[in-house]
Amino acid sequence: MKRISTYTLGCKLNFAETSALAQAFLAQGYELVPFGEEADVTIINTCSVTEHADAKCRNVVRRALKKSPKSFVAVVGCYAQLAPEELASIEGVDVVLGAKEKFDVMKYIGDEKNAEAQIFVSDIQTVDNFGFGHSIAIGGKQDQTRAYLKVQDGCNYNCSYCTIPLARGQSRSESIETLALQAKTLIDAGYQEIVLTGVNIGDYGNKPDGSKGESSFFDLLKALDELPIPRLRISSIEPNLLTSEMIDFIARSKRIVPHFHLPLQSGSADVLRWMRRRYNKELYRARCEEVAAKIPNVCVGADVIVGFPNETDEHFEETYRFIESLPIAYLHVFTFSKRPNTHAAEMLDAGKFQEVPSKVKQARSQKLHELSFFKKKAFVSRFVGKQMDVLFEDEFSDDDELNGERTSSEKLRCYGHTANYLRVGVEVPSKEWARERLVGKILPVSLLGIDEALNATGALA
Ligand code: SF4
Repeated sequence: MKRISTYTLGCKLNFAETSALAQAFLAQGYELVPFGEEADVTIINTCSVTEHADAKCRNVVRRALKKSPKSFVAVVGCYAQLAPEELASIEGVDVVLGAKEKFDVMKYIGDEKNAEAQIFVSDIQTVDNFGFGHSIAIGGKQDQTRAYLKVQDGCNYNCSYCTIPLARGQSRSESIETLALQAKTLIDAGYQEIVLTGVNIGDYGNKPDGSKGESSFFDLLKALDELPIPRLRISSIEPNLLTSEMIDFIARSKRIVPHFHLPLQSGSADVLRWMRRRYNKELYRARCEEVAAKIPNVCVGADVIVGFPNETDEHFEETYRFIESLPIAYLHVFTFSKRPNTHAAEMLDAGKFQEVPSKVKQARSQKLHELSFFKKKAFVSRFVGKQMDVLFEDEFSDDDELNGERTSSEKLRCYGHTANYLRVGVEVPSKEWARERLVGKILPVSLLGIDEALNATGALA
């Protein structure tokens, strides 16, 4: 039996797509083996959101080749679309596939390694295919807890720092009927939670030219809310695309969980404008506060970029104070990095924008990480002493330990998430016990405290 191994970098959408690619190989009789083991075929799905992501991708490709030098290596995804030659120049890579070609990866796999890497990348303007139907997550784990359903791809926005529209093309979506069928397949397979993923999912249904399509993201939500899935999660939505109507619907829904990830990027009016974001501070505050007022126990997370060109100490201070004043539970902090062919890069090259020194960027990132820590601690603390439903996953406190042996001083914990995204750990006698009784189930847990990593600790109620 031939073996396939995969590795995914970047966002949940990439994970969903890798899973779809892997499933095509499984259907052809391949066996999926963990990354790092000998494999006949290795697929690496790349990300190019920052310079750091690019470097990480190159490292992973080298690691794959070191572990399994005879493997046929296909490098696909965003970095492959944007800079195929960089990846093709790594000795041992066989094919580099762009945004269109990656879904046909099977067709490019040879029985023997290529003498040199071949590149198949279409002009991004011509990319209009959506990809495979069943986009569920396989990841390293086999538990059927949470599945990622790809509902949308590409982006018509033109944020000045972002390379994603150049890597993934114009916005396009799968039909409600097809997505409802895919969701049913996931429900029948036993999944307890479906996470809706895409590049800009609030733009669902709109046409590639940006005009309104026949159905909207709200229509999709209403259709999926009819299905018997215990939990439906929206991965991330642009604040300008989250309407009051949607918030009211989610507040009433028994399935859509009280968790929003609303990208902020900056709390400075000037920086938001330079970033070409499609909202201002007032709109962001209004959305955040409306969600918090209408949905009890809601968890709101935000992405923030520090060190955007021209960001002064005053701009940063404005961002810090803005976030401090909002009902936000956690932050994902990114450091600006210049991406080729973006508006920000052009402005920097033309001397119209000034780069922020890297030490200053680091210090700002550190401050926001600290703010995120305090916000999260305050959020998790609100629920200590309460009983919450937890969906348990195949995740344990000793997952990182060598040889699978845990130290006698540490109790083994099994982890899961509440609907509002608190990570909760409960003590269990053994993994086998937990896998039999907890994993894949939603069970009531009494929350008793918080650990150092800000997970809630609890006991089965
Ligand atoms: S909304 Fe902006 S940041 Fe997000 S993918 Fe589109 S262009 Fe990039």
